Amino acid sequence: MDYDEIMRNLEYTIKEHKDKFVGTFETNIYDMARDCKRYIEWQQKEIEALKPQPDMETGLMPCGCGGKARIEESPFADDVDNIGLKIYTVGCTDCTIGFEGYFTSNEDAQEHWNGAMGWKESKL
Ligand SMILES: [Zn+2]
Repeated sequence: MDYDEIMRNLEYTIKEHKDKFVGTFETNIYDMARDCKRYIEWQQKEIEALKPQPDMETGLMPCGCGGKARIEESPFADDVDNIGLKIYTVGCTDCTIGFEGYFTSNEDAQEHWNGAMGWKESKL
């Protein structure tokens, strides 16, 4: 049940039983509902603010251990034509966990690492 549904039920209940209420009960109950909604919205923003964020320099999420992640660029070993192909690996500098394979771009490595560490771009 969402907030709007709760408010509709509340309005219905108040209308149906209006003769049983005393004084400012109706106003008070609406105020309480509004306060609850404000509290829930505030709490959701606080929770969002506490979520780990990608590092400002590297754009990489911290590892689950709390360590900093790093992307390493190396020459691609099978670059027989020697045209400067690179591979990118990504892992944690503290616990050394990382992807077994490699990526063909820095952005791809970053996207996969961040996805694995639970980062979701905000769609707002
Ligand atoms: Zn780690």
